[in-house]
Amino acid sequence: MRLVCIACPLGCELLVREDSGRVLVQGNRCTRGEAYAREEMTDPKRVLATSVKVLGGDYPLVSVRTDRPVPKRLIPEIMAFIRTLRVEAPVELGQIIVEDLLGSGAKLLATRTVRRAD
Ligand code: SF4
Repeated sequence: MRLVCIACPLGCELLVREDSGRVLVQGNRCTRGEAYAREEMTDPKRVLATSVKVLGGDYPLVSVRTDRPVPKRLIPEIMAFIRTLRVEAPVELGQIIVEDLLGSGAKLLATRTVRRAD
């Protein structure tokens, strides 16, 4: 499998293969690339960006993202949870909407400000 390492802007092209249960990585210029490739093969993670409903705001939604990558396998469950959320305006840029998303350790943060409608 070929991957592009996203751990830094250099974007090394990685060649990843499994041999007798071991993950072998080539093309990385540092150990972070190897760690990234192993994680992609075993438990890939992504930063999640979406939106949350706002009550009483000048916009009906506020954009949010996680402060760190969360396991891809949890994303459907996290999205279902986020769809149930309602946050009261005003919402400040950087405000923590959820402290620990479904035990992932990631915070859900507002990425814009939403003022009160009145
Ligand atoms: S392998 Fe190392 S140098 Fe290459 S993109 Fe990943 S972090 Fe950057």
